[in-house]
Amino acid sequence: MLTHFIGGQPVASGKVFPVHDPATGAMVRQAHEADPEVVDRAVRAAREAARDWAALPVGERAGWMRRLAEGIEARFDDLVAAEIADTGKPLDQTRTLDIPRGIANFRAFAEIAAQRPDDAFHLSGTLSYTVRRPLGVVAVIVPWNLPFLLMTWKLAPALVSGNTVVVKPSEHTPGSASVFAEICAEAGLPPGVVNIILGYGASGQLLVEHPGVDAVTFTGSTKTGTTIMRTVADRVKPISFELGGKNAGLVFDDCDVDRAVEGTVKSVFTNGGQVCLCTERMYVQRSIFEDFCARLAVRAQEIQLQPMISAEHREKVLSYYALARSEGAKVLTGGSVPVFGDHRDSGYFVEPTVVTGLSEWSRFNREEIFGPVCHVAPFDSEAEAIDLANGSQYGLAATLWTTNLDRAHRVAQRLEAGLVWVNTWYLRDLRTPFGGVKLSGIGREGGTRSLDFYSEPTTITIKLEQPDA
Ligand code: NAD
Repeated sequence: MLTHFIGGQPVASGKVFPVHDPATGAMVRQAHEADPEVVDRAVRAAREAARDWAALPVGERAGWMRRLAEGIEARFDDLVAAEIADTGKPLDQTRTLDIPRGIANFRAFAEIAAQRPDDAFHLSGTLSYTVRRPLGVVAVIVPWNLPFLLMTWKLAPALVSGNTVVVKPSEHTPGSASVFAEICAEAGLPPGVVNIILGYGASGQLLVEHPGVDAVTFTGSTKTGTTIMRTVADRVKPISFELGGKNAGLVFDDCDVDRAVEGTVKSVFTNGGQVCLCTERMYVQRSIFEDFCARLAVRAQEIQLQPMISAEHREKVLSYYALARSEGAKVLTGGSVPVFGDHRDSGYFVEPTVVTGLSEWSRFNREEIFGPVCHVAPFDSEAEAIDLANGSQYGLAATLWTTNLDRAHRVAQRLEAGLVWVNTWYLRDLRTPFGGVKLSGIGREGGTRSLDFYSEPTTITIKLEQPDA
């Protein structure tokens, strides 16, 4: 039974809810759900710890971040097992990406924070300088698609900036967060600095509306983001939102087609398409459109399947497959539930799917699906490609495939997206800003941008009187 982690202690309180393995549908564990009393205890524990934690020099907090990274390394296999049980991810991806990125998140923000110089300005006999103070207690609310990676991506900069935190992982994936609670306790992290509460959206709602929470950092759907925004509006709590996407990929006829096909396979189907950065809209220059579609459809049939996170999410993805047909799409491959041998499986799998033939105004091309699926459409000119890519209410990421250097820069700079990749996808330098425009988010995290969000600068100006000569 998974418990909350409050003030350095496991807390078994609240109703019990089940967590299922999406690869089999079987219940893998049960967890307690945070009710108002649990949420209140967690926020109080974080507030009690806040003053001493904030008073530590940044170098000491950076030392704690390195210790937590070592703790994660020591429990690497437990974290991999927890993450796989909750998400059905492939072992290889979990071992090489998800858990290592958690370690990298703590190490990177330890370096970035410790090296950051203070601002100081001299102007005609005055000295102005800024000190950065932590926000206080930060609510960290994260989704299920990359549970450990996304949780640590927010935790590390929040902690190294001197905040204490109450984390709420997704109800689908509480496992790696619970192992992390043990890592914090084993490392001897001061009680109350990290608190973790489990539960559904209702527990998250209680947390963000708690008056003892000073700021909210959230990764998840745009719908939940707007709900949180309304909840915290009256208190003007700072928010950082990493939300949904409907990302475009542009393939120009001067590209290396082999590379573009392989890169597109990754960008559409990684993690079963359940990455906010996955591509769902492909636009391909007309002269190579037919060839590209045919090759993409073949490759889609060869990829390793990954389950959708839940039965409901599988139904949602399948409803978009049905929508594509009803809107008049041509299905090049997939479009249904895979058949394993002679039985329909009990896990939450769907077929990787490629469709064409829909207008950019179709619901299919406008709404985030979050599954292993993309629509491919032709374009004739660079200007048209840019318009198509930008014609979305979302603006998280875009990918370009071209060998023309001028075009790469020209197009990349005109795309309305927080992240643009050229001839690659998903590579991240943790020092660079990350986030989206339009419905894809508010603010940027990454590098010093994260430290900016998790602290408030106070500007101090001193008149330096000159002694009489
Ligand atoms: P979700 O919005 O349903 O849930 C995210 C988290 O919010 C969960 O922990 C959930 O319990 C909690 N929550 C739900 N309602 C809440 C409320 N009213 N108040 C407070 N907390 C609440 O999203 P999801 O289905 O878990 O994740 C998938 C979504 O996340 C997709 O839209 C995807 O694009 C997005 N995402 C974005 C990024 C990014 O960096 N931009 C990264 C990963 C995922």
